[in-house]
Amino acid sequence: MGCIEMGSLYFQIASLFYLGLIMIIYCTKKKRNTLENKIYLGLLIVTFIALILDMASVYLAIVNPTHFFANPLCKLYLVGILGWVFLFTYYVFVISSKKNYSDEEGNLKKASKIYFKKAFYILLFIYLISSLIILLIPLNVYSDGNLMYTYGPSATFSYTVAGICVVFWLVIMLSNYKEIKDKKYLPAFAFIVLATISVIIQATFPEILLVTSAAAFITVLTYFTIENPDLKLINELNFAREQAEKANNAKSEFLSSMSHEIRTPLNAIVGFSQALVEEEISNEAKEEVNDIIMASENLLEIVNGILDISKIEANKLEIVNTEYEPMKILEELVSLSKARLGEKPIEFRTNFDSLLPKTLFGDYMRIKQIILNLLTNAIKYTKTGYIEFRVNCIQKGNICRLIVSVEDSGIGIQKDKIDKLFTKFERFDIEKNITIEGTGLGLAITKKLVELMNGKIVVQSIYGQGSKFTVALDQQIVITPTISTGETISKEDPIDLSLLADKKVLIVDDNKINLKVASRLLKDYNIKTVESDSGFECINRILQKEEYDLIFLDDMMPRMSGVETLKKLKEISNFHTPTIALTANAISGMKEKYLKEGFDDYLSKPIDRKELNRVIRKFLNTK
Ligand code: ADP
Repeated sequence: MGCIEMGSLYFQIASLFYLGLIMIIYCTKKKRNTLENKIYLGLLIVTFIALILDMASVYLAIVNPTHFFANPLCKLYLVGILGWVFLFTYYVFVISSKKNYSDEEGNLKKASKIYFKKAFYILLFIYLISSLIILLIPLNVYSDGNLMYTYGPSATFSYTVAGICVVFWLVIMLSNYKEIKDKKYLPAFAFIVLATISVIIQATFPEILLVTSAAAFITVLTYFTIENPDLKLINELNFAREQAEKANNAKSEFLSSMSHEIRTPLNAIVGFSQALVEEEISNEAKEEVNDIIMASENLLEIVNGILDISKIEANKLEIVNTEYEPMKILEELVSLSKARLGEKPIEFRTNFDSLLPKTLFGDYMRIKQIILNLLTNAIKYTKTGYIEFRVNCIQKGNICRLIVSVEDSGIGIQKDKIDKLFTKFERFDIEKNITIEGTGLGLAITKKLVELMNGKIVVQSIYGQGSKFTVALDQQIVITPTISTGETISKEDPIDLSLLADKKVLIVDDNKINLKVASRLLKDYNIKTVESDSGFECINRILQKEEYDLIFLDDMMPRMSGVETLKKLKEISNFHTPTIALTANAISGMKEKYLKEGFDDYLSKPIDRKELNRVIRKFLNTK
């Protein structure tokens, strides 16, 4: 072993050079203190020493073969290279071991640590015995002043031990293939094949030096594939990111189910209060019930806000684009704002561009939410004066840039607060606004929504004089207006109750109180109702040829969801009853989801009286 023509020493020098570089990089890089990292450092050091011993022994044997130290130096070199072989054996053993148990941060568990320690001492013992044998038995060194190689019992013994180790690598890696879960270790197989080939070549042609260079080469390659600390850090970062994502998902899921849980009792509170207001009760009681409704609506707004923020943070908020008629949305916003203005002495001015396209393509629900937030704030933070709601449109090809501005003569915002305006849970002028309801979520959501739609929002404000919020959003123009999904509560034609007298509605919900709320609300319209507490019962009723004019079908029911129930209903021949999805899981895009599933419409819980009116007018107020 260790035999070379003098010129080939350059190859050794090159190996030494790049190995040195890797050592510097490896030692200066930040890395974790894992067993693998420790072994790798050991491999680097041993390879380095073996290379130096190799070069020194070759040099001495060629320059001065009779020197008393030439023979021991060759033996030392054999001991060095065998050290590398044993260390690599330990490395292969560790990465492919069944007992490689580590905790979530990648640190070895105590039992694994003890197990690997034992294995290390056993291998160290065998190595020391082998080294002793190499040093004691004779080694012959051939040198003709230009070429040198070693042979004899000591060399043969080294080849044999190295060969056994290589076989051990192969066996252990193949038998524990499944345990080498991490695919990054697969290159180790290639190294083993490389090492096997070099040991065979070395044993056959001792005058060609291969082993030390192969060891150096494998050690260096291992850096780029297995032991690269950067790679490890990236893997760790990925792991941390996955964990964070998991936690975030859990949070969103929790918030979504919490919102669902809160909506269910709210449904009862709002539903019964609305029913109560219609009854003949004293004015005082009416006022109190109206307060309950207002407080519930505020609570609902908070729940929706928290849900929106969590969705935005988890990147789960989707923009659902559909065709809509902007003018209808604007009219709706005006009527909503006027209702919210109540008796406040504020002049509400509107100024809408006459060139506004009839039909646009975009997320009208979110656009409505954005504008409503701004209008509501203007109303909240203005005592007297005016509010001006302007919408302009700049057309460029088939894009319409909507410029929406809401200006008020309200309390205004201090200059230094403007930067923080869009931060969640930030509210200003608390002393002044103490009586104004709010969470500080509205503008944070508004800004995120505008950004999601690639738009811009700007604020101008003079403290004490008023504020102006301007939003710019690009919307696609639909040239041929088609039927809009942005149904609006058009000028309310009164519902003809006489037409509803013989209508029958089937309400399906697993929650008894929800059934009662829906029945109670429909009673005001003189509609007959039948209650079912499961999808199975609903299907049975239809199978038994019971006839209904409309079905309210809750989606989230145990055993059979509303969506599944509808699928089964649709399989029944002659089933044509319009079916409305009922859900407390009011997330954006839900309406589209349910329409896609085959429902005819969608109502979210708590049931909004206006929405209920709309549905009844659409499906029941016909002759
Ligand atoms: P909220 O209104 O629920 O408190 P927002 O995020 O909508 O939360 O608004 C954050 C803060 O910005 C408000 O608390 C208020 O101090 C200020 N603000 C928003 N709009 C206006 C406005 N039109 N005029 C004056 N101050 C406003």
